[in-house]
Amino acid sequence: MIAAQLQEVRERMELACKRCGRDPESVTLIAVSKTKPIEMLRAAYEAGVRDFGENKVQEILEKAPQMPQDCRFHMIGHLQRNKVKQVIDKAQLLHSVDSLRLAQQIERDSAAVGQVTQVLLEVNAAREESKFGFFLEEVEPALMQIRELSHIRVRGLMTIAPFVMNGEENRENFKKLYQLYVDMKSKNIDNVTMDVLSMGMSGDFETAIEEGATMIRVGTSIFGSR
Ligand SMILES: *Cc1c(COP(=O)(O)O)cnc(C)c1O
Repeated sequence: MIAAQLQEVRERMELACKRCGRDPESVTLIAVSKTKPIEMLRAAYEAGVRDFGENKVQEILEKAPQMPQDCRFHMIGHLQRNKVKQVIDKAQLLHSVDSLRLAQQIERDSAAVGQVTQVLLEVNAAREESKFGFFLEEVEPALMQIRELSHIRVRGLMTIAPFVMNGEENRENFKKLYQLYVDMKSKNIDNVTMDVLSMGMSGDFETAIEEGATMIRVGTSIFGSR
């Protein structure tokens, strides 16, 4: 069942790429396996998935050692500062850096173990009360401070768009994030690469791809509802 669902998601990704003239290789599918048992991750692995998304540090700590070495775990949920130390050497990419204080903690813990941690800044593009993340206009000032932190590399931006029935409704939010991404990339800020744009979930990943996503995070359409 997971193999078939994956197949369908990949076909929809390819069609979206075709519609906007993008190379399907330029979009990475992250299978969001939060709350799902290890057997389901293994089934996805068998069907070719290597990138998994989790929103809790504890789940990454439990699942990563049980999966083959070539799996990459992405931290996509709100990260508490006291959990940073546990996760920085287990996750491939932290998608949810939503405050300067969190970035400073990541800097300290990364320096302590002598690594450079790859992160995305989370952006609350739709200005939702309930969501974490920087507002669009806060991103550049934040990058100007984070560039001083030599153990953090900002690879790009991430957004969790509002929950919608029709992905089309999020097109404007995705457009705004893409514009900011291109704009920040053009500034060539130290320690900032801007080659990852993480946006799009089960309800809206095709629209996100059309608007420039390089990573989409899909749970329900692969693993079923939670
Ligand atoms: C759960 C989650 C997803 C996946 O959502 P689906 O609608 O199940 O595809 C993507 N991103 C984040 C940050 C999530 O927490």
